[in-house]
Formats: sequence, C-alpha cells, structure tokens
Amino acid sequence: MDKNLFASDNYSGICPEAWRALEEANRGYATSYGDDSWTERACNALRDFFETDCQVFFVFNGTAANSLALASLCRSYHSVICHEMAHVETDECGAAEFFSNGTKVLLVPGAHGKVDPRAVTETIERRSDIHYPKPQVLTVTQATELGTLYSCAELREVGELARRHGLKLHMDGARFANAVAGLGCAPAELTWKAGVDVLTFGGTKNGMPVGEAVIFFDQGLADEFDYRCKQAGQLASKMRFLAAPWVGLLESDTLISHAAHANRCARLLASRLVGIGGIQLAEEVQANAVFVQMDPALIDALHAEGWHFYTFIGSGFARFMCSWQTREKDIELFAAEIARLAARLKC
Ligand SMILES: *Cc1c(COP(=O)(O)O)cnc(C)c1O
Repeated sequence: MDKNLFASDNYSGICPEAWRALEEANRGYATSYGDDSWTERACNALRDFFETDCQVFFVFNGTAANSLALASLCRSYHSVICHEMAHVETDECGAAEFFSNGTKVLLVPGAHGKVDPRAVTETIERRSDIHYPKPQVLTVTQATELGTLYSCAELREVGELARRHGLKLHMDGARFANAVAGLGCAPAELTWKAGVDVLTFGGTKNGMPVGEAVIFFDQGLADEFDYRCKQAGQLASKMRFLAAPWVGLLESDTLISHAAHANRCARLLASRLVGIGGIQLAEEVQANAVFVQMDPALIDALHAEGWHFYTFIGSGFARFMCSWQTREKDIELFAAEIARLAARLKC
C-alpha cells in the first residue's frame, strides 16, 4: 500500500474523466490564451453549475487564484479579514499582500476553522480612522482548513454581515466540491445567493491535474482581471488544458460525486480511528479531512513505519485526507495498521 495516500488530497492522480477530456483536447490545434472552444465550454458548464451568468477565469493554482482575486477587490491601503488558520494567511507566503501591493490581512478567531461573526464585526468596527487599513474584504474557506463546513445559514449570516459593512465576500473554495457534496445544497445557495462576490473554485484536489477557476458572480468586479492574470504569469497560452478537465468533470456529472466519495471515505476512516486507543476525533468530519488528536508516541511510530501525514495544521492534530482516489480497502488496512501499533504501544 502507498504510505502517502492519506497525506493530502493533492497527492492523488488525475481522475479518468479529466484524463479523457485532456486526451480529447489534445487532438489537433486550438486557439491560444483562452480563445478556444474548450475554455468556452468550461465557462458555460460552470455557469450552468452555478445557475447564473458569471465571469470565469482559469489559473494554475490556488495561491494565484486566491491572491489575484483578493488583489482585484482591494487597494493597497485596504485590509482583508480572514480566519487565523486560513490558507491565505498560513500557506500562501504573503501572496495576497504581494499582489495587492500591501493590503493587510487581519486575522480573526473562530471555532472549527470558521470565522466568528462577532470577531469579524469587532475587527471591522475597531477603528474607522485614517491610520488603520480600511477593511474591504471578508474571505472564508469552504470547506474549511479543519475539514468543517459553513452551513447555508451560516454563510448567509456571513454574507449579510459583509454587506452591512460594505465589504466584499470572497470564498476560498479549494475544496468547494466537497462542501457541495457534504451539505447537499445547490452550488448557487452556497455562493452568490448567500452573498459571495468571488469564488476560488479548486480543481486540483478533486481529480484535475492542475488548475483552479476564479468565478466572479459580481461581474463588474472582473473588470481587467485578465490583465492581472497575465501580469502575474497566470495566463496559460495552452488554456484548453486547464479548461478541459472542468468540461470532463462537469459534463459527466462527476465533480460532485468524486467529492462525495472522498467525503464518504473520510467518514469511514474516522469511524475506524475513533475505536483505537490514543486517538480522539478533533473535529467533526463534514468533508474529506479527518483531524484527530493522537498520542505523540503513536504519531512517531506511524512516521517510523513510513506513513506520511501532516501534523502542523491546528495544534497537535494529525490530519488524514481522502480524495476521489481513496479506496475503502486501503482505509481498512491503514486502520488495522494503526490499531496494531497502538496496541503495541499500549495507548
Ligand atoms: C490547497 C489549498 C489551496 C491552494 O493551494 P495551492 O497549493 O496554491 O494550489 C487554497 N486554499 C486551501 C484552503 C487549500 O487547502
């Protein structure tokens, strides 16, 4: 068994639907820089998916998608409010600040990886003088960095809060498909109907080789975003290969079913792990991540056996991720292996 398989959903390969679409897109010639039929088809498939006319851009990765989207919403003297564990803050090397020429990221706490609306309000209202960077955007992650989900009602509350204070609402949806699958809500309900102005929609962690979509529901905000992408080195000349996987997954209706599979695997893994000594579930499993509090000796033993997984997200948590590619029999084998080690260590 591959001992990397629970390390991250971006350790997975390319799903068959994306692969087939790439193969098809690879036949012959196509216009470059997004002026091709695959890009048009992908944009239209996304408009159908969200049941609205939106502006769509494809970039290479999530860091670019998030930071360029945020930069397009801000001026340099503005600020962006996000959760203290948000990818934008902890895993993007200051890209949001860089691409916005100095926009400050302000952090708020909140249980289960979700922003606490009171803390957001407090941060917005703390200062209104000229000496403090002006709050301009609230960004939320769905599914969150802790594998939890904002409910539809929670999103509407956050959207209303942003609107009331004149802030734009951005969503980091690196795992948006997992959120749609987990909540069973329409994508529209989880985005523009709840007040989301711009969504970063992740493809990479859900079976695509590379690429994320930036989706502007407020089309006015997309003005000149193409120039921003080009300047940032994010305008693919062979755009059809970023677009085709979206066509492959959306037109075959597998985008959400792959995510649902990953979520199901995470729930199965969690159900196996909770019965083992030295392990407690740290967060409810609502998407494709399993966060557990684990006896440090057990973590060391797993690492010594060659298992690869991350422990730096959250305090003292071990994280196991499932993807479209995870197989149930691997979950059972892995759980048995941990149980064996836990028994040996008398956890
Ligand atoms: C993976 C991820 C991203 C994108 O990361 P890249 O490595 O830049 O593609 C963005 N946000 C969250 C929450 C993620 O988990």
